[in-house]
Amino acid sequence: MHDVLPETAPAWHALEQALRALAEGYGYEEIRLPSLERTELFVRAVGEVTDIVEKEMYTFTDLSGESLSLRPEGTAGCVRACLENGLLHNQTRRLWYLGPMFRHERPQKGRYRQFHQWGAEAYGFTGPDIDAELILLSARLWRVLGIGGVRLQINSLGTAGARARYRAALVEYLSAHHERLDEDSRRRLHVNPLRILDSKNPELRALLDGAPALADHLDPESQEHFAGLRDLLDTAGLAYEVNPRLVRGLDYYEKTVFEWVTDRLGAQGTVCAGGRYDRLIEQLGGRPTPAAGFALGIERLLALLEEGAAPVAAPAPHVYLIAVGETAGRAAPGLAEGLRDELPGLRLCVNCGGGNFKGQFRRADKSGARVALILGEDEVNSGVVGVKYLRDERPQEIVPRGELAPRLRAVVL
Ligand code: ATP
Ligand code: MG
Repeated sequence: MHDVLPETAPAWHALEQALRALAEGYGYEEIRLPSLERTELFVRAVGEVTDIVEKEMYTFTDLSGESLSLRPEGTAGCVRACLENGLLHNQTRRLWYLGPMFRHERPQKGRYRQFHQWGAEAYGFTGPDIDAELILLSARLWRVLGIGGVRLQINSLGTAGARARYRAALVEYLSAHHERLDEDSRRRLHVNPLRILDSKNPELRALLDGAPALADHLDPESQEHFAGLRDLLDTAGLAYEVNPRLVRGLDYYEKTVFEWVTDRLGAQGTVCAGGRYDRLIEQLGGRPTPAAGFALGIERLLALLEEGAAPVAAPAPHVYLIAVGETAGRAAPGLAEGLRDELPGLRLCVNCGGGNFKGQFRRADKSGARVALILGEDEVNSGVVGVKYLRDERPQEIVPRGELAPRLRAVVL
C-alpha cells in the first residue's frame, strides 16, 4: 500500500480533474461509496470461485460479529448503493466513482494491495449503444491524456444459457486433457471452468488455444448485440480486436466484455476493463435491470503518463510574507487574512516559526513565490509593506497597505 507524496499528488490531482471533466462530458454523475461492505456482497456479486473472493480480500469480523471486507472493486458496492437508495426505479442512470480498492495480491510493479480505480457504470440500458458509449468514453480519455500504445480488445460471453452450453463443451475438452491442467485449473474445472481461459499460466497456452471457442456457442441474442456493438464502433471509427479468449476475472459479466491493453507496462498490461452485467442487479435483490460498466487502474494510468512526460508540479505560492520581529510577527496573520479576503485565488504563504530577515528571505526564495512581502516593526507602525519582486527585474517598493491588493493583483493574479 503506497503513500501518495506531495511530489506526486499533483499528477493525481490533474488526472482526477481530467476524469471528472470527461465524465461530465458524457452525462455521468459522481457517486461516493464506502470502502467497507459486508463480505457477503462480494461473494454474491464477484463470485465465490474467483481469485478476488478466494484469496485476495481483506476480510475481518467486526465487534458485532459481522464479516466485513475492504472493497476489492467498485461495481458491487455501486449496485448495492443504488438499490438501497432507490436510484434505479423506472429510470436510467449513468454514474462514476473513484477510490481505493484493496486486494491481497503479490505486490509488484503495477500491482498493489491498495490501488485506485476510476469506474463508470450505466444502468437501465439494454442495447449495445451504451456499451459503445462506455468504450468511446474510455478511448477519449487516452486522447485527452495523450496516452498512446493502448489497444482495445472486445469479446462476447453470451447470455447465461449460451455460457452453460459452452461450459459443457469446455469441460468435456479440458477433462479429456486433465493431465495437462495445473492445480488451479483442476480445481476450477467443475466449479468455474470459464475462468481457466483467463489463466495466466503460459504452460496452459497451447491447451487453451485448442479449446472450443465461445464464439461458436453464442446465442442469437448475444450475436446480434455483439454485431450491433461492432457496427457502432466501426461507424465511430474506433479500432478494436476481437479476442475470443477474453473472459475477465469476475463472474458477473455476460455478453460484452472489453479491455484496453498495452505492452508498455510489463506483465500488468490491462489498464482498463469492463463489460455488461445484466443479471447482477437482480442477483443482489433488485428488479432485473440491464447494466454495463468498466474500471480503470489509476496507478497503471499514471505509470503510462509518467513515461517521458515532465512531472506535474504543485503550484507555488504567489506571495511569501516575511515578518521580522515580535510586532511584525503579531501583525502578519491579520495582514495575510485581509489579503486573502481581498484577492480570492491568491496563494499566500506566511512565514511561521520566526527567524531573522536572511533566513526568512531564503525560505521565501525557496518557496518559488513571485513576490516577497516584507513586514518589520517600522512598516507596521507606518501602515506600509515592503514588496520585493523575486523573479522580475524590478526595484523593491514600499506600498501603503491600502494599495497592496491592487498591486499584487496586477503582478501575480
Ligand atoms: P489483472 O488481470 O491485472 O489482475 P483484474 O482483471 O483483476 O486485472 P479488474 O478487477 O478488472 O482487474 O480491475 C480493473 C483494473 O484495475 C485493471 O485493469 C487494472 O488496471 C486495475 N487493477 C486491478 N488490480 C490491481 C492491483 N492489484 N493493483 C493496481 N491496479 C489494479
Ligand atoms: Mg486481478
